[in-house]
Amino acid sequence: MNHPSPTILVVNAGSSSVKVSVYTVPEAAHGDGDVNPELSAHGQIEGIGVAPRLTVHMADGRPVADERFPLAQVADHDAAFRLIRLVLSIGLRDNPPVAIGHRVVHGGADFTEAVRIDDEVLAKLEALVPLAPLHQPHNLTAIRAVREAAPELLQVACFDTAFHAGHDVMAQLLGLPYRYFEQGIRRYGFHGLSYEYIARRLRQVAPDLAEGRVVVAHLGNGASLCALRDGRSIDSTMGLTALDGMPMGTRCGAVDPGAVLWLAQQGMRADEIQAMLYQESGLKGLSGVSSDMRVLQASAEPRARLAIDFYAYRAAQEVGKLAVTLGGLDALVFTAGIGANSPEVRARICAHLTGLFGIELDPGANDDNRQRITHDGSRIPVLVLPTDEEGIVALSTARLMREAMAQKAAA
Ligand code: ADP
Repeated sequence: MNHPSPTILVVNAGSSSVKVSVYTVPEAAHGDGDVNPELSAHGQIEGIGVAPRLTVHMADGRPVADERFPLAQVADHDAAFRLIRLVLSIGLRDNPPVAIGHRVVHGGADFTEAVRIDDEVLAKLEALVPLAPLHQPHNLTAIRAVREAAPELLQVACFDTAFHAGHDVMAQLLGLPYRYFEQGIRRYGFHGLSYEYIARRLRQVAPDLAEGRVVVAHLGNGASLCALRDGRSIDSTMGLTALDGMPMGTRCGAVDPGAVLWLAQQGMRADEIQAMLYQESGLKGLSGVSSDMRVLQASAEPRARLAIDFYAYRAAQEVGKLAVTLGGLDALVFTAGIGANSPEVRARICAHLTGLFGIELDPGANDDNRQRITHDGSRIPVLVLPTDEEGIVALSTARLMREAMAQKAAA
């Protein structure tokens, strides 16, 4: 009898959305044991707690569902997750998933690679909530919801911090008393699933560059940059939390800690400061218009311009900083929503880098979001590569699933 290939789900629970991707895991083609999960469908609920909307489409883009829900029906992540599971369970009736991989933002000092989730792992991840208050609670809600519904199902956590685990101590230190470093108060770095994907992709599309000194700018709602040497992360602009580095959609990026102290001295409580730094700052707070780059680009408000100018200026500065870490620069890569889709923002960032790095954009290639957007004569090539964080989660989950299956067979 012909068995269908096993199915796995990848869950990416963000601050206002839950995305679920369905992958099939074909038998290893080459006996080398590696797995290549293939995306078969993708569903997401956006606007949780605001204007919930469920969309599902197949890997080829064919839409399957597009439905808006009354706010009361999908008021929180728990409800969103239950709804999306219901929709998927109908679609996957004949081939239920054998494993679920979760994108988890913070793995702290304990988790340097993807792990099977058990009670102990869950407790450790819980303890990291204060270091990622915007994301970690939602990641854990999804994990708990699955455990409740299907306690036996293999669940895997894949961390945004893990790809940065090999950083030198210089890249980890904060200038605080050393005892805090020993307690785990150190710079971790985030967006690691995206950087891991880009490092792999670069090896495919430009193997010569992939061996060199590369800065990757992940510019989405969150934004950070990563220094890669020979495909490994050397440093990143985010630190202990996903607040550090360049300004983002709603997050502040690096600010003088004296400013935070000042806010506290004015009588603001820690939770109020937290909400401001994570949700009311960055492009949103500076512009007073929106956190969304498309809206800002279309806005005639002077402060929308100011916000974009500051964003580009700070991103370019971070490129320079990471080039110092790398001892030079062989390529710059843009990725994520803004990085892969906004010629204007890329051009503004690169304009700051022309003098120091001899970057010369090809405006036509940039406007078309082509893979290489610099002239042949540019001293440093600049590339645009869309990211695929879910693909990396699928890969790690499929590997651990294979391991679990092999263990079961051997027992
Ligand atoms: P997330 O970090 O939530 O995954 P994305 O990577 O999708 O977010 O990035 C969202 C950002 O990308 C938003 O600011 C959005 O405006 C921006 N963006 C998407 N498409 C474009 C575009 N064509 N031009 C400019 N900005 C864009």
